[in-house]
Amino acid sequence: NILVSACLLGIGCRYDGKIKKNDAVCALAQKHTLIPVCPEQLGGRPTPRKPVEIKNGNVTEECGNCHTSEFEKGAEETLKIAQITGCTLAILKSRSPSCGYGEIYDGSFSKKTVSGNGIAAALLSENGIKVKNEENFDK
Ligand code: SF4
Repeated sequence: NILVSACLLGIGCRYDGKIKKNDAVCALAQKHTLIPVCPEQLGGRPTPRKPVEIKNGNVTEECGNCHTSEFEKGAEETLKIAQITGCTLAILKSRSPSCGYGEIYDGSFSKKTVSGNGIAAALLSENGIKVKNEENFDK
């Protein structure tokens, strides 16, 4: 079983409500059972929703509204699903404030990135789950 960001599989959970399926990730379903999760929806965020980025450890909209606690709840629920389904690998959406791993947007809402992890990706990794993204997983 592989935990996967639901938006990579064509689920309409992205902040902007758009469908952006990743064909290479979807193709993994031929040989593996894919478990779709959207940490932001699991944390109670609506779709569509305002974009957020991480700055100084907090998840905020550009106007300053803070959603850190929802993102933390979503990360915990995502970890539970990974554990219930026995996932040891997660393939998550790059640069997202929830799902990004190794690189995330820098909090300036200008498409600049910094080293860092999204809230859910970090919790999964801390609990022994290997995290990859749609750009660096081993096809
Ligand atoms: Fe995709 Fe993750 Fe954002 Fe949900 S939280 S839309 S799964 S990147």
